[in-house]
Amino acid sequence: METLLKRHIRDVPDFPKPGILFKDITPLLQNHDVFKKIIADFTKRYENEGIHAIVGIESRGFLFGTPLAHELGAAFIPIRKKGKLPYKTVNVSYDLEYGSATIEMHEDAIERGQRVIVIDDLLATGGTAEAACKLIEKQGGKVVECAFVVELGFLNGREKIKSPVHSLVKYE
Ligand code: AMP
Repeated sequence: METLLKRHIRDVPDFPKPGILFKDITPLLQNHDVFKKIIADFTKRYENEGIHAIVGIESRGFLFGTPLAHELGAAFIPIRKKGKLPYKTVNVSYDLEYGSATIEMHEDAIERGQRVIVIDDLLATGGTAEAACKLIEKQGGKVVECAFVVELGFLNGREKIKSPVHSLVKYE
């Protein structure tokens, strides 16, 4: 699985700024068999875990989160950057390398005690996913696991996240 996925992840140097090696997952989406395998893999892992909702992180978390929610018969909940969600929101801010960012979720998205999976395409420093977990816990939700297609292991993002972490492909 890991070798197959790595063949469909494209390295783009110096995007979006010099010095960043961007892991482009669009070739994974273009290949129906590979995309199907990814969703099947996540589905198998979570189908007997009593998951109420999949929380996708904007924007590439939506691409994997919505088909997974559909397969599991669970709700899909978007977490977005500040100012994008139309209804009443709850938010959390977190530090970036330079400055800070704020993410939001609708205030009625999660019910107390619900079991959720947080999903994004890629785990880098872990700041975004840990902020998402805080937001979910603030609303009384339980983060069963944070799931990623790609993990940049050398950034140690896993250590920043208090919930369990699962990824399909790791770059060391
Ligand atoms: P972080 O909060 O540092 O874990 O950053 C995670 C978010 O940034 C994810 O939504 C990723 O899609 C994006 N990201 C960070 N670094 C990269 C990278 N090298 N290639 C692709 N996406 C990245």
